[in-house]
Amino acid sequence: VTRKCDLLIVGAGLAGSMLAWRLRQAGCDAMLISDPIIPSASRAAAGLINPVTGQRLVLQENIEALLESAHAFYHEIESRFGITILHQRQMLRLFRNDKERSAWEKRKANPKYRPYLDDRLQSTDGFIQHKTGYLDTNMLLDTLYGAFRSSDALIESSFDYADLDIDKDSVRWRNLEAKRIVFCEGWRGQSNPWFAYLPFQPAKGEILTLESSHLPERIINRGKWLLPTGKNRCKLGATYGWNNLNEVPSDAARDELLAALPLLDDSSGEAKVINHVAGIRPGTLDKHPFIGFHPRQPGLAIFNGFGSKGSLLIPWYAEQFAKHLLAEKPLPSEADIARFNG
Ligand SMILES: Cc1cc2nc3c(=O)[nH]c(=O)nc-3n(C[C@H](O)[C@H](O)[C@H](O)COP(=O)(O)OP(=O)(O)OC[C@H]3O[C@@H](n4cnc5c(N)ncnc54)[C@H](O)[C@@H]3O)c2cc1C
Repeated sequence: VTRKCDLLIVGAGLAGSMLAWRLRQAGCDAMLISDPIIPSASRAAAGLINPVTGQRLVLQENIEALLESAHAFYHEIESRFGITILHQRQMLRLFRNDKERSAWEKRKANPKYRPYLDDRLQSTDGFIQHKTGYLDTNMLLDTLYGAFRSSDALIESSFDYADLDIDKDSVRWRNLEAKRIVFCEGWRGQSNPWFAYLPFQPAKGEILTLESSHLPERIINRGKWLLPTGKNRCKLGATYGWNNLNEVPSDAARDELLAALPLLDDSSGEAKVINHVAGIRPGTLDKHPFIGFHPRQPGLAIFNGFGSKGSLLIPWYAEQFAKHLLAEKPLPSEADIARFNG
């Protein structure tokens, strides 16, 4: 028997899951298809939220709306399910060189940066950042999966592109029929036959979990970062690699991360490595997400390309895409894949 629904979503990482939640909350019967065996960046990620990034200390565009939306989304899930997933923590930013010191001087004089950057510290060669923290991505995903399963909205299966039948006004996969389908496969989207033309730029990343009796109070960031997560645990990340794209932890990344540890926190020498994960960030060449409908297949859409900032970006873009899908509001132009129609 055919089961009809409004929309199919392929991939239940942060992108697919948050989009599905937003749409279902708005009354859209969205069904998720995702393979738990295929690794997900969202499961490896540290979930850091940092408005000012990079050596040049660049403030994220549209930051106020992004933060407001992220906080609203995560707090909605927290109060609905009685959990804590968003942990707000100050960040101690340590200077690596004079270029960073002068970037800070320049930014500090700019009123736009005032809510995010604090004065330089006397005791350490660095400064404090505000409105930073991290999202417990695994707790969020486990919670959303539970809710989707209990409303029969999650199918745990691999999606083979050859199994999709595309008609004029509908798509069909196995016994499911929907008006439209949205692809959220993370970096594997670059092998999607309809969206492979988009300029993806995936980057491998690795993170260690350390056990230590001494934990810093704040997140410490010096390019690499140390993130205290409680119970004598902290995470040490992250590496960036553009070759050998696989989700296998490597000795080289482990050595690179451990070499950075004494520069972040010189009292963490006794730390023991208790976990090591790898994932692939769904980066894009122009650093903006990929959102919208295929130029010639009006039933096929993509919601992807959140790079290394999924926790900060996805709630706001999910809201915008939901408005586009349900109320035909225009997409934010920087993310609309129409920018590649030539
Ligand atoms: C090491 C590392 C550290 C990171 N740190 C941070 C951080 O601190 N802060 C931050 O905001 N972001 C961070 N990120 C980035 C963040 O992980 C991404 O922005 C975000 O998770 C992307 O979510 P996604 O849903 O697009 O992709 P994914 O999480 O990869 O989800 C894709 C989903 O699609 C499924 N799938 C793919 N193909 C198929 C198929 N054919 N059939 C069925 N299912 C399929 C997969 O199983 C998966 O569940 C980090 C990433 C990595 C790797």
